[in-house]
Amino acid sequence: MLSSCARATIRSDTTTRAAECSSCAEWNAPHAAVRLHGNTWYVGTNGLSALLVTSPAGHVLIDGGLPESAPLIMANIRALGFRVEDVKLIVNSHAHFDHAGGLAALQQASGARVISSVPSAAWLRAGAAGRDDPQFGTGLPFPPVGAVSTLADGETVRIGPLALTAHLTAGHTPGGTSWSWRSCDDAGRCEDFVYADSQTPVSADDFLFTRSMTYPAALADFARGQAVLEGLSCDVLVTPHPSASRLWERVASGTLVDRDACRRYAAAARAAVARRVASEQGR
Ligand SMILES: [Zn+2]
Repeated sequence: MLSSCARATIRSDTTTRAAECSSCAEWNAPHAAVRLHGNTWYVGTNGLSALLVTSPAGHVLIDGGLPESAPLIMANIRALGFRVEDVKLIVNSHAHFDHAGGLAALQQASGARVISSVPSAAWLRAGAAGRDDPQFGTGLPFPPVGAVSTLADGETVRIGPLALTAHLTAGHTPGGTSWSWRSCDDAGRCEDFVYADSQTPVSADDFLFTRSMTYPAALADFARGQAVLEGLSCDVLVTPHPSASRLWERVASGTLVDRDACRRYAAAARAAVARRVASEQGR
């Protein structure tokens, strides 16, 4: 089941944020921090993921939710006994307001370095999606991130013993990035985590994936990214919207480890793109 990421309803430019984004209150409902495995912790809200990967040399934070999610994420980090100031690196799945909105505040509070793909970096610095966003004009702006470094597809970032690898899995946005790392517990048991970016082919009403002039590579990017996700070693899948990979059900049932989860996620995404392409015929 894939959620419709960032397809918020914008009513007018004079209403409050809560009124503008019909899903934001539900997405931003608090959720207690959860240890997923070893040194990998869920510190996001009920509907928007943020993960903390910890080490004695500093931590990595993945995604920042909405602007109003940042205080909840910081409270979750502190509730676990970690210091926000020990977050040394912040990375992002994709630069829509519901995953990047809290990054500026989280960077300011932690002093962490923010690093993203090249296409995402431009959107993060601007605090808005670019014209090449399939959803251009339907998403909300967000606080711009002051300093953003970039990395290449396949590059690994390191903080002490932590090593997270970036995989460009675009299509939902041109800069969409999935992240993989190995999470180990004190007994030395390790699992390969994949934070797989949103794969939903949602768009503004006037955008056609099959005939786009603003993002002509969208379909090729989806296909390439889905093949990448299928090829990753993937013991535990987490997605920017926890509902897109049934995270809470898996936590409740103690079945987080599922070595086929990434392959199923990619297959479902490929089918959703095929349905979208078919729906565009004759338009
Ligand atoms: Zn999105």
